[in-house]
Amino acid sequence: MSAQASPSANVPPAATSAGGHIRLTSHSAGAEAPALSWGAATAAERGPVVGTIKRTHRNVIGTHSGAYGVYRALAVAAGALSREHRADLTDTSPTDLIGPYPQWGQPGAIVSLDPWGAVVADVFADQLAHGLDIRPTIAVTKAQVILPEIGDALRAGRLAPDGRVLLDTGAAQVTKAAVEPVWHLPGVAQRFGCSENDLRRALFEETGGMYPELVTRPDLEVFLPPIGGQTVYIFGAAGDLADPSIELTARVHDECNGSDVFGSDICTCRPYLTHAIEECIRGAQRGGVGLVAYSRKEGRALGEVTKFLVYNARKRQAGGDTADQYFARTECVAGVQDMRFQELMPDVLHWLGITKIHRLVSMSNMKYDAITGSGIEVGERISIPEELIPAEARVEIDAKMAAGYFTPGAAPGTEELKKVRGRGLDE
Ligand SMILES: [Zn+2]
Repeated sequence: MSAQASPSANVPPAATSAGGHIRLTSHSAGAEAPALSWGAATAAERGPVVGTIKRTHRNVIGTHSGAYGVYRALAVAAGALSREHRADLTDTSPTDLIGPYPQWGQPGAIVSLDPWGAVVADVFADQLAHGLDIRPTIAVTKAQVILPEIGDALRAGRLAPDGRVLLDTGAAQVTKAAVEPVWHLPGVAQRFGCSENDLRRALFEETGGMYPELVTRPDLEVFLPPIGGQTVYIFGAAGDLADPSIELTARVHDECNGSDVFGSDICTCRPYLTHAIEECIRGAQRGGVGLVAYSRKEGRALGEVTKFLVYNARKRQAGGDTADQYFARTECVAGVQDMRFQELMPDVLHWLGITKIHRLVSMSNMKYDAITGSGIEVGERISIPEELIPAEARVEIDAKMAAGYFTPGAAPGTEELKKVRGRGLDE
């Protein structure tokens, strides 16, 4: 390098993204941070959730967008996103008004999402105008969904277009909502029967100390966890969901990328999901309303890597992949059979004002227990039709029925489970 070069020649352009001192979040509340009173009956009393990185305004732990917050950090680090960027919320308001419903103000009824999350631009307009960076955690829009299985149902005569719920093109008209997780830590602890301190400590330690405020800021009760949220698809009028006199067909479905998207035949996830959509459309056509609530909890919330490890362990064990060993193999790899913990799942139903599900398209006893335990009445339970169960998925469905899943017939016994066998890895 020549002596004439200016000292700054080799210095990269000043990052628009970051700079100056690193400010630890662990101490001192911002004097300008608005108060949060979780579960209050009105938005004004409850106060806005402020997950901005502007320290003096923050009143929660964590940041918005769940797991995608990490990508935002990458964008800032790469200089592609200004840290000062604020969302322009013009024309983004919900297509359908949802609530407010009585559950929004009932203590403990909703602890894992912000019921006011879709309407922050309206209910907190004053605070937004005064410079608080308040972001929606729920968005509600309209769509048409086109599924090959619904096309099959049309050709088979099980469904007919009505021009309202189901169009001649085979497209179903839906209202859909995306929901990000917003956890009220005292309420979440109560759901799981542990102390708030134990919950905070476990969250802090199991994330490798990612959020020091979990242990240093007991005054911050709300946490925006870096996890996936939920999407709801509504067939018919969204407002009808809250009317117990209108027939509601509903499925609560947990993400399974392998089956839902790629058609892998080792489980019943996509066939059950598309069957539920067919039931929802039929229900809406006869004057009811349909709902699919989809939770991003891949592989029983163990993640897809664990799931694929379990597949190998199942296929390679002595005696091959049999239904009697189905849960044991998961437990060997993951330490538990399931990490979905349905305790938080009913929150989205309460956000929608639901008090009665007439037809629950699910066989899961864990989902049923969580829904009814949260005070929602459930009428009929709809199991997956036998002809929709892939041969390879018998291991899963028989193991689940033996473990307590709802079944209209008899659950398979111990000896039968030993005989239910899946393919080998090279078959
Ligand atoms: Zn699956």
